[in-house]
Amino acid sequence: MTEPADPGRRADPGRRAALAERLATVTARIATAARAAGRDPADVSLVAVTKTFPAADVVHLRALGVTDVAENRDQEAAAKAAEVIAVLGAGGPRWHFVGRLQRNKARSVVRYADVVESVDRPELVQALAAAAGQHRSTPLDVLVQVSLEVGVAGAPAGRGGAGPADVPRIADAVAAAPALRLAGVMAVAPYGADPGPAFAGLAAVAERLHHDHPEASVVSAGMSGDLEAAVAHGATHVRVGTALLGGRPPLSG
Ligand SMILES: *Cc1c(COP(=O)(O)O)cnc(C)c1O
Repeated sequence: MTEPADPGRRADPGRRAALAERLATVTARIATAARAAGRDPADVSLVAVTKTFPAADVVHLRALGVTDVAENRDQEAAAKAAEVIAVLGAGGPRWHFVGRLQRNKARSVVRYADVVESVDRPELVQALAAAAGQHRSTPLDVLVQVSLEVGVAGAPAGRGGAGPADVPRIADAVAAAPALRLAGVMAVAPYGADPGPAFAGLAAVAERLHHDHPEASVVSAGMSGDLEAAVAHGATHVRVGTALLGGRPPLSG
């Protein structure tokens, strides 16, 4: 890495050092959890959730070896991705979109995102398929977001996600769209409940999906507070924000 082409480091070497230390801690947590589950640590990928943090942090993380970052708001993500491309060009990270997504944002998201993890309804599949077909030269990776909320009658609660029974229909729609590539499932554990049973439920949904669509092998689950439980239940990707970047202001999702 040549120093002059690395403005992130010039801007704040202390921040990079702090991120390096936190990254080492998170990486060790993932490895410990994988080994405890009899899994190869190399089979669990880290996605750094950089929402509310500046593009300079993405540049730092990329220099430290992080390959994937995630954002949950289109406006913030589009601007940040453009800033990072200006610094790193084609050497930038893969961008994951993990937030609630309105159909009218599909055209924007497909331009910078490599993966949309939060696809939870057929109308959104159609919007992404149309936008990706128009604005991309390579297929967009898609994860079906599964709601792990239990005991809630009717529509899933505020964290989004399709009910497990709706996953096959959404997955089939993704698989049928030439501009999309079905990659797997994503979920967020329910608030205030033991994440273990929720992640076990996700594993069952993922297994069924993988049976119907052998190419769909990603299980994105686990965040700063529950990544060990997710890895124990087969997560292939953990999405870590706070443990890596520090606290966010409240109401940032
Ligand atoms: C913010 C966010 C994360 C990261 O959460 P932390 O607790 O900060 O690690 C993971 N997944 C989604 C969907 C998020 O919105």
